[in-house]
Amino acid sequence: MTTNAILAAEDVKAMPVPRTSAPVASPAAASKTSDDTHDDTRWTAVLARDAARDGEFVFAVSTTGVYCRPSCAARRPRRENVKFFTTPEQAERAGYRACLRCRPKSASGNSLSDGVKAICRYIEQHLDEPLTLDRLGKEFHQSPFHLQRRFKAILGITPREYADSCRLRLLKRNLQAGDSVTRAMYDAGYSSSSRLYERTASQLGMTPDKYRRGAIAATIRYTCADSPLGRMLVAATERGICAIQFARTDDELIEGLKREFPFATRKSDDAGLRAWVDMLLQHMQGRELASSLPLDIRATAFQRRVWAHLQSIPFGQTESYSRVARAIRRPSAVRAVARACATNPVAVAIPCHRVVREDGTMGGYRWGIERKKQLLEMEQRT
Ligand SMILES: [Zn+2]
Repeated sequence: MTTNAILAAEDVKAMPVPRTSAPVASPAAASKTSDDTHDDTRWTAVLARDAARDGEFVFAVSTTGVYCRPSCAARRPRRENVKFFTTPEQAERAGYRACLRCRPKSASGNSLSDGVKAICRYIEQHLDEPLTLDRLGKEFHQSPFHLQRRFKAILGITPREYADSCRLRLLKRNLQAGDSVTRAMYDAGYSSSSRLYERTASQLGMTPDKYRRGAIAATIRYTCADSPLGRMLVAATERGICAIQFARTDDELIEGLKREFPFATRKSDDAGLRAWVDMLLQHMQGRELASSLPLDIRATAFQRRVWAHLQSIPFGQTESYSRVARAIRRPSAVRAVARACATNPVAVAIPCHRVVREDGTMGGYRWGIERKKQLLEMEQRT
């Protein structure tokens, strides 16, 4: 199961359609001058082998018939033999071949938007921290200026605007689920200032309070089934699985679901959820979990970061709480990591059972230490 699964469905949908950055039409004379300046900065980037501009354009060399990305390590051609193209396809239509050294085709299009996707994922996981361009630049080894420009060229908005939209989306979901306004705002990464409250109100078109009251209760379907760890409940919204819990009896499970989603309409649906139950049972017996298992879980940015990391721990292996804290670059947050594990709403799908104490002993488990032990033994046998 990939880390993407946790964020997948809605975040992919949340990506605005890429916009091509077409230059503004202008009279021929003026546009010629501006194109020349454009080419001058491109040539400067080529001379500097500026990797930050890979993917923005390619340069083609008339004497060799080859085109390269700006950072190509090959010897620089003479300026008069160089032509610039925005995409590899354009260079190829003009009769040039891709350089075998810098492989400009793999550097444009997909990998450019992959880079921007990585920045989006990073922003989503750090909504509760100040996200300056400087910080993003350091994290992704780009100048803040270029990072912002490339981000905007692909998504049409700045990283800051993207972070704002993520927070608003989270806030709406938390309010719909019936959280208190304070809690909903905190979990969505807002700092609690009245200025922010007002700005949020204008983005929502009403106060968060009113939004919460008006939100229609979501429907949650659930089923209970036998598992090697006792009775198992799987519950889902229309977006994906929102709870996987264990208990001794169905009554306990359904009580727990009520407590967790007091405002939802709950509906039993054994047939509709059968396929996911089977996948989870097979996974407990050692079958790889399909990455397509959709999750719809609410989380603070910090929980999201911890849970995404847990999904990267291989089947049958364990990590200590402090190692997880180091992996998410919050080495002093060991207790918070333990809390995030203890509040995991989806057992097995987010394998919090693979986190143990430094000395190798079990540590806690939301569904009881015996179940954790049994799960780990089952995994280590296969
Ligand atoms: Zn090259």
